[in-house]
Amino acid sequence: MLYDNIEIKDGRLIFAGADAAKLAEKYGTPLYLMDEERIRQSCRAYSEALGGCLCPGSKAIYASKACCFGKIYKIIAEEGLGADVVSAGEIYTAKKAGFPMEEAYFQGNNKTDADISFAMDCGVGYFVCDNFEELDAVDAIAGQRGIKQKILLRVTPGIDPHTYDEVATGKVDSKFGVAIETGQALEAVKAALSKKNLDFRGIHCHVGSMVFDSDVFIRSAAVMTGFMSDIKKILGADTKILDLGGGYGVKYYEGQGEIDIPANIRLVAKYVAERCSSLGIAVPALRLEPGRSIVADAGITLYTVGSVKKITGYKNYVSVDGGMTDNPRYALYGSRYTVLTANKPEPAETIEADLVGRCCESGDIIQPGVRFPTDIKRGDLVAVLTTGAYNYSMASNYNRIPRPPVVTVSAGRDSLAVRRETLDDLTGCDIF
Ligand SMILES: *Cc1c(COP(=O)(O)O)cnc(C)c1O
Repeated sequence: MLYDNIEIKDGRLIFAGADAAKLAEKYGTPLYLMDEERIRQSCRAYSEALGGCLCPGSKAIYASKACCFGKIYKIIAEEGLGADVVSAGEIYTAKKAGFPMEEAYFQGNNKTDADISFAMDCGVGYFVCDNFEELDAVDAIAGQRGIKQKILLRVTPGIDPHTYDEVATGKVDSKFGVAIETGQALEAVKAALSKKNLDFRGIHCHVGSMVFDSDVFIRSAAVMTGFMSDIKKILGADTKILDLGGGYGVKYYEGQGEIDIPANIRLVAKYVAERCSSLGIAVPALRLEPGRSIVADAGITLYTVGSVKKITGYKNYVSVDGGMTDNPRYALYGSRYTVLTANKPEPAETIEADLVGRCCESGDIIQPGVRFPTDIKRGDLVAVLTTGAYNYSMASNYNRIPRPPVVTVSAGRDSLAVRRETLDDLTGCDIF
């Protein structure tokens, strides 16, 4: 099996110790299941690797856009991670969950004045400033409040992470951050240092997502430490925090690459520590911002089959009761997944079919070319694996379809974390 929290026992899918079919019966489908222990284990893997690394004071920050709901902030806080937040909505959810907001890092390339004020009201610890206008705005709003706001500056190190274009964010021509190569990043640090209400703490980059190449973080660390040395030499300032962003890849199907994350973290930290001493600058505390690698393999989605269409001589379709509304990743990126039939033993004979959703859109494909048991039929249960990241958080109400509930499973026990949306939720903002 792709992961050790999933097994097929007597023809039934067991996920995190719980019988998937029973949960489908209890909560209905589509249904997001999240393995709470797996989330905690992944957090601990980061904390252990960073806690014992050669850059003292290092820690992981969970990129909450990967999967955001109230309970996840409690889990993250209990595990001692910080949180990346990118909107008032994420900030509000984190605060409501009791997350320690001084450990929140406000990301994004276009924070409005209202966002900035709201984040300060909520006590967000760090602003990761993206551009010159934002430095001015954060300085001005901090000044109105009589506070000195801690900031990091987002820069682009000019690294191509060898991943999909849609998720490559560290190149010089990116919409995110200020480029080092053009000299603009140094100008931005200079501007930040000159502002009365800003407390410059360090620099941030995030080069992309689904990174398996263990060299990518070393290459960005090389550029970033070189830039830290310029900041010291030219502006006389120390960079206390070096935030290298998120992006470690996750395995979605057999045969896909893998990366030993803790080993890679130790390597990167060692590199940063050695390089800083050779450059004669202080060793910074590291921040890493994993999103996907904390939650992706902690999640699966269950669906019920509605129709099985065999177009003689052409192709087959298995339609389920969800689709691009709860999982837009194939439609967006052509993402691959492992799909299982969850209520039947390993079949002797299979057919190939596209697993499709219920939306009025030909592109509403969850996964093409899936092997299903030949006798797959209406009422059967299908599981799509590795849906913990960028599924619930990217879900929509297209076709006015309510979003599915999120149920966490811990040691075989289930607990509702997000209830299913109702028709009244869908019309709640409408003025009739
Ligand atoms: C998306 C994002 C992350 C998380 O990326 P993953 O690939 O999910 O680990 C971290 N930091 C920033 C700034 C991001 O935009």
